Amino acid sequence: MRHSETCARQRARAQRHFLGSRPPSASRWRIPCSQRFVTAPALTLHDRALGAYLGFAIGDALGATVEFMTAAEIVATHKVHRNLTGGGWLRLKPGRVTDDTQMSLALGDALLAARGWDLRMVADSFVGWMRSRPPDIGNTCRRGIRRYMLEGSLAAAPADDSAGNGAAMRNLPLALVTLGNPTLFARCSVEQAHITHNHPLSDAATILLGQLTQILLLGGSLADCRRCVTESLIHYPRFRFEPWPGNTSGYIVDTVQTVLHAFFRADNLESCIVDVVNRGGDADTAGAIAGQLAGACYGVQDIPPRWLKQLDPGIAERVRRQTDALLALPSPLPLRESGYPPRPTDA
Ligand code: MN
Ligand code: MN
Repeated sequence: MRHSETCARQRARAQRHFLGSRPPSASRWRIPCSQRFVTAPALTLHDRALGAYLGFAIGDALGATVEFMTAAEIVATHKVHRNLTGGGWLRLKPGRVTDDTQMSLALGDALLAARGWDLRMVADSFVGWMRSRPPDIGNTCRRGIRRYMLEGSLAAAPADDSAGNGAAMRNLPLALVTLGNPTLFARCSVEQAHITHNHPLSDAATILLGQLTQILLLGGSLADCRRCVTESLIHYPRFRFEPWPGNTSGYIVDTVQTVLHAFFRADNLESCIVDVVNRGGDADTAGAIAGQLAGACYGVQDIPPRWLKQLDPGIAERVRRQTDALLALPSPLPLRESGYPPRPTDA
């Protein structure tokens, strides 16, 4: 019984991939469940990358409405919160995103402006974002960007209170431009993280979440992600998420646990994001990272059309353009440590 239910759901999703909104002919789908993977078209890298970035922005916009609420308060107010209605403590218009998506776009803009990796351009891009008077900015991010503005230093000193979500939440653009080069990914991730957050757990989470994203972007399975997580848990047992400890603060350990717990028990993008944000706490950030993983896993085709309609159109357009441009950057990503602008011969 359970098996056939799962198969029906799988077939429904395969139909959407295959046929869009056209109703399937009955005979076409009278196939054994085990053949689904033969008949469903494979997702392209672009499907997965765009799914990850739009899923991220949607998770941010959905979660922002209930950020800092408890799960019980969310139930009392929304029953289940599943639409991009805006509001929340930031009093956002429907579909608007917050610092999570904006900082990711700022990192992506710096990668595109440098056509490679230039840490100073990343820091400058964060400064430009902070000067744009964003609706929200985390304390550790503000402190780090201010330090860069005043002193020019590109790395914060190690600090016990720097294990917030701020570095891990903005790293998707780097995962997109360093595919197939895990060493470069880790190095650049830690560098961008340390502009504001210098803490071993923040570093470990930033790398782990990016690695999982890259596994999925390259067509890896949930089982492949499981293996990666199991290995990471040997070194970072605090990320253990089964059973879920139940914390949803802005502490990166809570966020890793919440996101992984929801991601591994979901079988589609919508249920993954809805599950995470309805747990409350740092709901926009956890929702965004969950959307990143689920989008890379299930592809842009699995994003509910109502969410694509509800997301801020200006942000959706920037995400689409940035995804295309980031995927088109040279590989391996050129390193431009000596400053900018890029030399014309490299452009
Ligand atoms: Mn936010
Ligand atoms: Mn947040």
